[in-house]
Amino acid sequence: MPEPGPAGPGPKTLVVITAAGRGVRAGSGVPKQWRLLAGEPVLAHTLRAFQGFDLALVIHPEDRETAAGIVAGIAPGAQLIEGGATRAASVRNALEAMAGQGYSRVLIQDGARPLTSPALIARMLAALDHNRAAAPALAVSDALWRGQSAVVTGLQPRDGLWRAQTPQAFHFDAILAAHRADTAGQAADDVELALASGLEVAIVEGEEDNLKLTFPPDFPRAEQILAQRRGKESRMDIRMGNGFDVHAFTEGDHLWLCGVKIAHDHALLGHSDADVGMHALTDAIYGALAEGDIGRHFPPSDPQWKGAASHIFLRHAAGLARDQGFAISNCDVTLICERPKIGPHAASMQSALAAIMGLNASRISVKATTSERLGFTGREEGIASIATVVLVKA
Ligand code: MG
Repeated sequence: MPEPGPAGPGPKTLVVITAAGRGVRAGSGVPKQWRLLAGEPVLAHTLRAFQGFDLALVIHPEDRETAAGIVAGIAPGAQLIEGGATRAASVRNALEAMAGQGYSRVLIQDGARPLTSPALIARMLAALDHNRAAAPALAVSDALWRGQSAVVTGLQPRDGLWRAQTPQAFHFDAILAAHRADTAGQAADDVELALASGLEVAIVEGEEDNLKLTFPPDFPRAEQILAQRRGKESRMDIRMGNGFDVHAFTEGDHLWLCGVKIAHDHALLGHSDADVGMHALTDAIYGALAEGDIGRHFPPSDPQWKGAASHIFLRHAAGLARDQGFAISNCDVTLICERPKIGPHAASMQSALAAIMGLNASRISVKATTSERLGFTGREEGIASIATVVLVKA
């Protein structure tokens, strides 16, 4: 996600997205920004790329209803602005409509360029720290020819030639002044206007994937890029959770810790078997999934869980993680007590937890600490446990 430009302190940034064109070179008779890309209009993807920014969306008057529907779901604060007869007139309408609202910077983006990355947006904003105007572009690497009637008629040196992209980035007042000074209204983009008004435009490295969808074959290519990005995102979906639990000592001759029965001169008091380590671990998994805690899934008010073996809870949490497509990458449980000594049982605890969760024991850590005789654990009034777990989208 991009840094929300306008929210924090610092320069207030507006993003103008131009979608008023009627360009139908992409086929199907529908303007390209409204054609479907991976099941959604191209413009929906473009809006999402700038989520978090203040947005002004320039549309054709006939598209107001469709645009309002898309905007409501993605960028509800976006202003809808009616475009003019040319691209330049459309951008000018947006700048005039948003003038006087404290914007010091503006990014101007083609509505049909849905794959602009957060990294490119960040580069454009950074460029405005030292430039009044900046535009992303890629150096031309293919040989260039001139041709006529499908025959090469001459060579075109490619040195110093660049392929222009958007978002083009400007200090707001500078580009507004350039638009006001332009009487022809025919400029292909805002860089052309900026140059005409004497602004120096810095070139920022663009991105090959930052396609402008223009011709029919651009669509399958863009869908492929989107699919790759989504695959990468889901592979990188990592969740972390923590859990903490305490149980008091009561009379008894054994207790359960991390699935292992240990002889002791006290038992632990609890509604279930009071396995404090397993409870902390279970809560860590629920926490990583943002699924509440044990109490939510197994209410203590429900008599059926009285004296329940805690592996029921842990198995449920691990199953929930699996059902949501997550693998448990590792977990780390710390028991806090003076007695019993945990070290001699740690390996059996790891095996017990491994069996319940269906994991290799090498991914499970059980360790212990005393609290230096301080506090309730130090006074041997009870045992505390904390646990951390990491889940990875499988
Ligand atoms: Mg508990």
